[in-house]
Amino acid sequence: MSILVFLEHHGNELQKGSLSVLSKAASLGAGDVYGVVAGSGVRELASGAGKYGASKVFVADDPALEAPLPQPRVDVIATLVREQSIDTVLLAQSVLAADVAAGLSARLDAGLNWELVDIEEQDGKLVGTRPALADSVYVQVGWKGEPCIGIFRSGTFDPKETGGEAEVVDTPVQLEDFSTAATMIEQAHEEQQGPSIEDADVIVAGGRGLGGPENFTLVEELAKALGGAVAATRAVVDAGWYPYATQVGQTGKTVSPKLYVACGISGAIQHKVGMQSSSVIVAINKDPNAPIFEYSDLGVVGDVHEVVPKLTELVKQRKRSAS
Ligand SMILES: Cc1cc2nc3c(=O)[nH]c(=O)nc-3n(C[C@H](O)[C@H](O)[C@H](O)COP(=O)(O)OP(=O)(O)OC[C@H]3O[C@@H](n4cnc5c(N)ncnc54)[C@H](O)[C@@H]3O)c2cc1C
Repeated sequence: MSILVFLEHHGNELQKGSLSVLSKAASLGAGDVYGVVAGSGVRELASGAGKYGASKVFVADDPALEAPLPQPRVDVIATLVREQSIDTVLLAQSVLAADVAAGLSARLDAGLNWELVDIEEQDGKLVGTRPALADSVYVQVGWKGEPCIGIFRSGTFDPKETGGEAEVVDTPVQLEDFSTAATMIEQAHEEQQGPSIEDADVIVAGGRGLGGPENFTLVEELAKALGGAVAATRAVVDAGWYPYATQVGQTGKTVSPKLYVACGISGAIQHKVGMQSSSVIVAINKDPNAPIFEYSDLGVVGDVHEVVPKLTELVKQRKRSAS
């Protein structure tokens, strides 16, 4: 078996999600595990993947790959699949990766399983696990032929360093005419303070119980005091109180921080599936019967407007006395 993992990068860093999928692939012990990095000026990044389990990293380094557009990456990966006899391509969920996976599936006439949350080898074949029926059950999924393409839900695994070294191999970049038809005119980065919710160890999430968008300052201040990131429920982002990028849940992001503080969140199943793997869940809700208390490690029955500012002040005091 030979598995190729698409290693997405932003700036000068390989993405945590890609490295997580890489370490998962390496942990299968099911043959060769390679990575591919595609971009402009990315050669330096490639060797970093060795310690997450790649024995070889193919580097497609070309100015034509500078913009994060999918089709040129499909060209690079499709060529590698054919020339290196790759039988499996794995990716971590992202806007770019989803387009690359779909394009690759069409180009190679290959089966694509998406939203995977696990993968294992059974009798020499890979079998994935994915949620179904609004995340109420997990089903096992396979591939009828090769190559197999799988894309994993974000936040499913953590990257694990194994300490290895990767051979870095330059791969020639030959792009199809139609793959260069799209041009990126502009790329705007959302201004962000602190860590993203995918990377944060601490997340403070706000729900409709906050009462209005102006009250998000309560969760922002607590998140700042704890050095964490702010997340939101779908009810809140649908109402335009907070950006979609912060939505946690079935149709948002899956997160697994060390601490998840839910403020004024009822704990609907669609929210739960996105945060249930957090190490410690703390809920603040004025309704003692709110479903979120059923799966919280610590629950505070109270009004967010009273409890959250007090908690923020206590955290700040503790930090002051510790410094
Ligand atoms: C197909 C589908 C996909 C979905 N995907 C997602 C998803 O990805 N993510 C997601 O979050 N939801 C998702 N939902 C929506 C989900 O079902 C819930 O509607 C949503 O999570 C509720 O958000 P909420 O907890 O902010 O609001 P509510 O359910 O309205 O809960 C507000 C809570 O705040 C408490 N409260 C009110 N005032 C206060 C106060 N002053 N102090 C303390 N507590 C207070 C209330 O007791 C209540 O428990 C999806 C739904 C569907 C059908």
